[in-house]
Amino acid sequence: MDTNENTKPDTLTCVICEHKIEPNPISGWAYGHNAYPVAEGKCCDFCHSTDVLPARIMGAFNGK
Ligand SMILES: [Zn+2]
Repeated sequence: MDTNENTKPDTLTCVICEHKIEPNPISGWAYGHNAYPVAEGKCCDFCHSTDVLPARIMGAFNGK
């Protein structure tokens, strides 16, 4: 569905902060994290830990 020409693993962009997603130096994983429920798409390590994880925790509380 995404025919963007910049879809190579090393050029993924975080949908939250719009910075380039760098491959994980340890695992080599270059595809970022699922940004749900903050946004649709992939996000970087930083946004995942600061925005996405807290949002999921809050959602878990709200959803009860
Ligand atoms: Zn980010």
